[in-house]
Amino acid sequence: MNDEANEFSKRSGCWVVGSMSAIAVLKRNRARPVLQRHPWVFSGAIERVEGDATDGDVVEVRDAGHNWLARGYLNRRSQIAVRLLTWRQDEPIDGDFWRRRLERAVAARQSLVDDANVTAYRLVHAESDYLPGLIVDRYGEWLVLQSLTLGIERWKQALVDLLVDAVGGVRGVYERSDVDVRAKEGLSPSTGVLYGEKPPELVEVLEGGYRFLVDVRQGHKTGFYLDQRENRARLPAFCAGAEVLDVFAYTGGFGVRAATAGASGITLVESSALALDTARRNFALNGCEHSDVNYVEGDAFSVLRGYRAQGRRFDVVVLDPPKFARNDREVKQAARAYKDINMLACQLLRPGGVLFTFSCSGAVSADLFLKIVFSATVDADREAQVIGHLAQAADHPAALTFPEGAYLKGLVCRVW
Ligand code: SAH
Repeated sequence: MNDEANEFSKRSGCWVVGSMSAIAVLKRNRARPVLQRHPWVFSGAIERVEGDATDGDVVEVRDAGHNWLARGYLNRRSQIAVRLLTWRQDEPIDGDFWRRRLERAVAARQSLVDDANVTAYRLVHAESDYLPGLIVDRYGEWLVLQSLTLGIERWKQALVDLLVDAVGGVRGVYERSDVDVRAKEGLSPSTGVLYGEKPPELVEVLEGGYRFLVDVRQGHKTGFYLDQRENRARLPAFCAGAEVLDVFAYTGGFGVRAATAGASGITLVESSALALDTARRNFALNGCEHSDVNYVEGDAFSVLRGYRAQGRRFDVVVLDPPKFARNDREVKQAARAYKDINMLACQLLRPGGVLFTFSCSGAVSADLFLKIVFSATVDADREAQVIGHLAQAADHPAALTFPEGAYLKGLVCRVW
């Protein structure tokens, strides 16, 4: 803001912080979601952008009557034209703003930071931590960052410096912005060191005291499915002496917990040979090399069909499939896949066995998922009781203003 504007604001007694920025003016009757603090403004809700703005810039958002509503960053290339950062007119978007937001996110994870048995967790969960477009995961001394939007891209280096200060003891920050959603923002994939040293090929972390190797440079997401941490801890209660089938096993997150809890046998089914290799090493790291572990590389649907044909049975089945529905249009097809795999799992369970079943598709609601699992049990000609409702771990919060943030849902069922 120049001196003149400053002087004007003092005289007129109104705040004009950011008054030099452009203004996205909404169409009539489109202010409601913004007033309710949903962080997205869709391009269809915007009447015009007044003033000079380059995509990636911070703009003000005003209603059709020009009343001030919020402030966020602009990208006209995306259907989500503005992602909102603040609803306070006196809060400018500057270094201090980002520092406050990051410190708040880190402070909310203090119990994890203090837990010597957990060294891997999510520090920043994008929109749900009021930092739209930014994901930061911690793996011991390493931070892994995903920048999903042009707005975050603009601040990326500043955010890295602030993170290093806020977290402490960081040896390196590695970028894993190799995700499809960036294309919608006009961005290409980007990976590499953003600060400090390059992390080793495999970083060892602790989850509930168990040791896991994480490939932060090449692995899925930022290397590990951190969102399942609390759910993995629920598994041991059912595993003593049990035959466990861990389907969509990745690097053995659930399987290792079953083995250390005294499962008599564990079968991992996973399509990625690389992930299964790491799973083998994770079992060895946790002293489970003597357990009866079966590593099966293949397509879960056909492997489970094969087991059904052979009459194989298990006491516990974990189903943690990849995201079957990426959007609303894919829900119907995804529902069929979820139903199919859940039906197969039920058919493979001994009477009284336990099913841990998940969906990480945001577009599939918890309600719909319950119905899908219900119809799978009917098709399998089995009775089932829900004995637990599961969700993403607490370091993956879902802001109440952002229902899209609650993406992972799961059920524990006793199947008769
Ligand atoms: N349960 C794991 C995370 C699973 S993520 C954990 O706790 O860490 C889903 C996994 O399913 C991925 O590792 C992916 O490689 C695998 N996958 C995807 N499609 C598959 C298929 N058709 N058959 C078997 N595995 C599949």
